[in-house]
Amino acid sequence: MSGDPYTYGAREAEKLLKELGISTLPVDPFAIAGRKGITVVAKPAEHAGVSGMLIRVGNEFAIAYATHIDNEPFQRFTVGHELGHYFLPGHVEAVLDASGVHQSRAGYSSKNQFEMEADGFAAGLLMPRNLFFPALVAAGKGFAAIEKLASTCGASLHATAIRYAQCTRDPVAIVVSAENRIEHCFMSKSLRDIGGIDWLRKREAVPRDTPTFQFSAEVENVRRGARVEASSNLQAWFGGRHDVEISEDVVGLGRYGKTLTVLCKRSINRTLAS
Ligand SMILES: [Zn+2]
Repeated sequence: MSGDPYTYGAREAEKLLKELGISTLPVDPFAIAGRKGITVVAKPAEHAGVSGMLIRVGNEFAIAYATHIDNEPFQRFTVGHELGHYFLPGHVEAVLDASGVHQSRAGYSSKNQFEMEADGFAAGLLMPRNLFFPALVAAGKGFAAIEKLASTCGASLHATAIRYAQCTRDPVAIVVSAENRIEHCFMSKSLRDIGGIDWLRKREAVPRDTPTFQFSAEVENVRRGARVEASSNLQAWFGGRHDVEISEDVVGLGRYGKTLTVLCKRSINRTLAS
């Protein structure tokens, strides 16, 4: 296995799409399940946080997706995640319990290797690089581009933003936080390549002097999905010695209680030291 679990999962999904001859967006994970003879059913979740299930009865497989989150892009991602467990080598053996059931927490909330690979698979399935990258170039930059791509791909803003950071050639960081604690941060390659920045320091809290901190301090902003477009500085987020002005777009992800931040480097890089 090469690369991180998300990249590995995404590449496996891209291979599958090639095999199936699927070359247009949006990709329909329900149809792919159908082609493999997998039954897909909607089902209320029995436990909070469970987004979906993969179920084996004999040699037959079924996928259940939770209906408590009434959000079509999230349900599509969940079905993609369960397809990941079905298709990824070793998953069926590893994730099903004695009664042939696996319960998933899809959506980048798990640190479990198999869950991360299945999330990567779902992202690669809905947003395969060979189709996503040209759409990304056409969509422009920043948060407006991510919104457009989410709609084209039938994916959530959250999943699309992460995929955007993986595929763009622009310096971009995506931060997902809850109650001003950072859950994860994805940086594009060109942002990591700026260098001279203390990338390795793992911050647990959203820095206080950022628009995101102010935004999330008002719980209503997150709940009703408000958004702001602001400016800040790379140093405020990541430290380091570069005074780099960035745009900071912030949006509340509604009832999940999470905040999505899109940090994009502006065109002029004012380097103070080097
Ligand atoms: Zn899972």
